[in-house]
Amino acid sequence: MKDFILGLSEFIVLEDIQENEKDMLIIVETKSPPLSCPHCGRRTKLYKHGSRIQIILDLPIRLKRVGLQLNRKRYKCRECGSTFWERLSSVEEKRSMTKRLLKSIEEQSLFKPFTEVAESVGVDEKTVRNIFKNCAVLKKREYHY
Ligand SMILES: [Zn+2]
Repeated sequence: MKDFILGLSEFIVLEDIQENEKDMLIIVETKSPPLSCPHCGRRTKLYKHGSRIQIILDLPIRLKRVGLQLNRKRYKCRECGSTFWERLSSVEEKRSMTKRLLKSIEEQSLFKPFTEVAESVGVDEKTVRNIFKNCAVLKKREYHY
């Protein structure tokens, strides 16, 4: 079982992990297709409707930056005819990274230079700054109410 290395229950690890000195690429697939259509909510037969390769950043492993390469599938609902990309509960879609990586960047950005955080996880400094700002804004809001 290679899946233990991830600890993300919605993915399975497909192939041997590719790595060099700094980076690790893990090819993954979702464990199960969606059970129902997110548009009409019906449990029905969903047709495959294309796919695309997506890289999702995750927490570093052994100090190496981790990218999950997912062949993300698109489905079409037989009932209402709408198409949709499979949903990923552990992924922050706007940033193409796992939610746990986002949380880790938020925490690290409070006490480390943004460039250092960026380098260690494989994003640019601007992304870290934006995450920090969003996080700081949220904290302020919590404080006020
Ligand atoms: Zn539907």
